[in-house]
Amino acid sequence: MLKLIVMKEGKTVQLTDKSLFDRKIKRVIISEDEIHKKIAEYGSKLSNEYEGKPLLLVSILKGAFVFLSDLTREIKIPCEVGFMAAKSYFDSTCSSGDVQIVYDLAQDISNYHVVVVEDIIDTGRTLLTIADMLKARNPLSLKILTLLDKPERRVVDLSADYSLFTIPDYYIIGYGLDFGEYYRNLPYIAEYDPE
Ligand code: 5GP
Repeated sequence: MLKLIVMKEGKTVQLTDKSLFDRKIKRVIISEDEIHKKIAEYGSKLSNEYEGKPLLLVSILKGAFVFLSDLTREIKIPCEVGFMAAKSYFDSTCSSGDVQIVYDLAQDISNYHVVVVEDIIDTGRTLLTIADMLKARNPLSLKILTLLDKPERRVVDLSADYSLFTIPDYYIIGYGLDFGEYYRNLPYIAEYDPE
């Protein structure tokens, strides 16, 4: 089924239209080169910190899939990967809400040092809930690594242990992040143009 996007004027336009797709990319915020340099730096950091330890990288689908894929190739020590997917039901006034895990890890994490690999931390509510769930499974340790962080949007007490880029409150697309399921395939990080 084709996805639809509703434009400001009320017209409904398909985002499969390439010229519209391009027009909605307002500007590049972080280039491909900057992303890869930073990932190499953090891959090396993790390789040093976890050498000799059982390391499990847990990625939250779908947004972090591109990041995880590049990050793993910059980690030079043995490690495993696992995936989770969650649906969040929050209302605008409530800082804690309901997160439903729709896909869970296959591993028992009690014998691993876990690093949660996230695409972006916005309000922090989804990740706080997931981190609490994972901590309750008694991993050897648990840290949070995020590609992007929007600290000014935070509504809960959560901070990443590793944050590659801090950004202002833009709606970001590309490098795994979507708008209406599109734009995940952009190799860079851009601002989406809602106009
Ligand atoms: P939080 O619970 O921190 O508010 O939500 C985090 C999730 O919201 C992210 O994993 C991501 O899926 C989505 N999100 C937050 N900000 C953005 C953004 O600027 N662009 C996109 N594409 N998704 C975002």
